[in-house]
Amino acid sequence: MNTAYVYLQLYKLFDDNTPLKTDCGRLCGGACCKDGDSPDSMGMYLFPGEKKVFELLSPDWIKIEPSDFYYTSGGVRRNVPIALCSGSCDRYQRPLACRIFPLTPYVGNDGKLRIITDPRAKSLCPLAAAMHKDEYNHGFVRNAERTFSLLMKNRRFADFMQDYSEYLSEYLKFFSEE
Ligand code: SF4
Ligand code: SF4
Repeated sequence: MNTAYVYLQLYKLFDDNTPLKTDCGRLCGGACCKDGDSPDSMGMYLFPGEKKVFELLSPDWIKIEPSDFYYTSGGVRRNVPIALCSGSCDRYQRPLACRIFPLTPYVGNDGKLRIITDPRAKSLCPLAAAMHKDEYNHGFVRNAERTFSLLMKNRRFADFMQDYSEYLSEYLKFFSEE
């Protein structure tokens, strides 16, 4: 199946399902879309194959570049692209990482996929700092679980999750998971 099409379908799960039923951006002034004073410094990793969405849509508010993060799949070392925006976007085209923030997928030592509060969000997002995942909009959490359960069926995605989870583990040493 066309990868861009899969992501575009998954995106729809988060058009109306956000962390809270109200606009959480009012709590923090949209902190997750700001990054200091540099207009080009906001970045989020794209998941395997997601870059094809932006090749298809070619939005002018996003730049996609190679990052310094790599994962290995099928014996091949693959780069994880990073998407850079200047703090505004078409919300119906925003990347998956933005849609699920402040949650993220994580595969623990037991090999099981979980959706956790992103430890990188704890110092930035008031929801991540103060709320348990179970207190979020249930539809939002459920759709994140459904999304990554589906993506994990793809071998390359599962391989990516191994390296991505190791990367997150470094942050989890300093910020508790929940
Ligand atoms: S930083 Fe957290 S509370 Fe603020 S807009 Fe982003 S997800 Fe919502
Ligand atoms: S792409 Fe949109 S939602 Fe994501 S960080 Fe940029 S402005 Fe925020």
